[in-house]
Amino acid sequence: MIIVMRAGARQEQVDHVCERVREMGLQDHPIVGTDLTVVAVIGDENKVDGGVIEQLPGVDRVMRVMAKYKMAALAAKDGRRSEIEIAPGVSFGGTLVPVIAGPCSVESAEHILACAQAVKASGAHALRGGAFKPRTNPYAFQGHGEEGLKMLAAAREATGLPIVTEVLTPSEVGLVSEYADCLQIGTRNAQNFKLLQACGQQPKPVLYKRGMAMTIEEYLQAAEYILAAGNPNVILCERGIRTFEDHTRNTLSLSAVPELHQRTHLPVVIDPSHGTGHARLVPDMARAAMAAGADGLAIEMHPDPEHAMTDGAQSITPEALTDLIVSLARVAAAVDRTCGAEREVV
Ligand code: PEP
Ligand code: MN
Repeated sequence: MIIVMRAGARQEQVDHVCERVREMGLQDHPIVGTDLTVVAVIGDENKVDGGVIEQLPGVDRVMRVMAKYKMAALAAKDGRRSEIEIAPGVSFGGTLVPVIAGPCSVESAEHILACAQAVKASGAHALRGGAFKPRTNPYAFQGHGEEGLKMLAAAREATGLPIVTEVLTPSEVGLVSEYADCLQIGTRNAQNFKLLQACGQQPKPVLYKRGMAMTIEEYLQAAEYILAAGNPNVILCERGIRTFEDHTRNTLSLSAVPELHQRTHLPVVIDPSHGTGHARLVPDMARAAMAAGADGLAIEMHPDPEHAMTDGAQSITPEALTDLIVSLARVAAAVDRTCGAEREVV
């Protein structure tokens, strides 16, 4: 940490800052320049409240030099990216850019099976579908719960596709992880730290969505909860944030992809469905995400979007998904990645 003193700060003010730094158990190294004095602080920055230091007389500003997240930081892996496998041949963060596709909710056993078959036929790599749904309105369909998990497991059995499904509460983590290949933490729970820790204490990979009002800095600190609890298999997912713009459901922040890649070794998935809220915008934003370097895509697909129980407006059809994957493969080639049905199906 670097503490920058104001121009003309008095010696006793510098001394006071140095005393406070030592009191916190860190080393102080004042450096007197021609115009300014700075105090370099050596030691664990997390022990220091920079905001409090900034209030001390004579202090101009405080600059952290270490990321607040140690395990999520790119430096934790010496600049190498993590590759996270959710099933044999389906890993995020390598050359392949897997596509997770499926309905917003698991509606019935027949429905999720039909979805899984369509996902498989399209060349996508994993099946999504919510059994536990976080709904804004308490009277809206809340998902089929454990029955929905069983329907997902049957669809996996029939198609071989790994399943990604959301968990809403710490007490249901054990149950969901019995069925899922990858647990999803949704945007509304992105700062439910007890849920993050509970997902960190089980072994299945986690697709962790960014909170709709979270900064990138807050997002990575929260991801650290999962890592610090013992689970290194965290896949980030940008799904759009709330802004003043209302032509889309959310504003899909594609610059989050290169930004996150510069800060963290964790793979970054883009969800253009929740990111836009409009099926007609999904294919272009999916291709843009691929071009921006995304490590995976999460796309809502429904055989009959007009009758979907949830998120029909943003769900593309099986035919649109099949076409999308063909074009995604072409964009992937242009950015030295692969997509589509290259995976060996067992
Ligand atoms: C979902 O994936 O269906 C979902 C509820 O996503 P989000 O948490 O991004 O809104
Ligand atoms: Mn949805």
